[in-house]
Amino acid sequence: MDFKSLIRDVPDFPKKGIVFKDITPLLKDGAAFQEIIKLLGARYKNQGLKSIVAMESRGFIFGGALATFLGVSFIPVRKPGKLPWKTIQETYELEYGKDTLEIHQDSISKGDKILILDDVLATGGTAAATLRLVERAGGNVVEACFIINLTFLNGREKLKSTPVHSIIQY
Ligand code: AMP
Repeated sequence: MDFKSLIRDVPDFPKKGIVFKDITPLLKDGAAFQEIIKLLGARYKNQGLKSIVAMESRGFIFGGALATFLGVSFIPVRKPGKLPWKTIQETYELEYGKDTLEIHQDSISKGDKILILDDVLATGGTAAATLRLVERAGGNVVEACFIINLTFLNGREKLKSTPVHSIIQY
């Protein structure tokens, strides 16, 4: 299936100079959305995953669907102040300033096999902070998976030795 034809480039969103990869045309195509989940389901079904960890908010769309498909648990990573229970936090650098992500302290048990999943890998800051959160919580990250990898931004380098997988590359 030609997934790239279902990704819309939106120039200068959310700010000037950024070409935003809009996944809503793909989500609007039920067969394509299902095909993405089936592809990822086939890749991860025999890996003994305990949980999928996904980042707010577009990661939740794919993470929730894939967790249901595989029958594994879903763990949200969120911006500060959104999770109601005790959290672990990681702060990471943005182009201008910093951002923080949180995960519930009791969401992962030591040695749990975890898949990290998000819609887009760009500079890798978000994924690297998530990786640190999962590792601090005791999780064992099997792979970091993205629907889209903007390879020219080299986000993969921030994930060091963690295996990275993506469906669409630019
Ligand atoms: P980064 O931390 O730079 O890898 O950015 C990753 C996060 O920002 C992901 O959760 C994406 O949803 C979002 N993102 C960054 N760049 C883009 C882009 N060009 N198009 C769509 N989403 C993006």
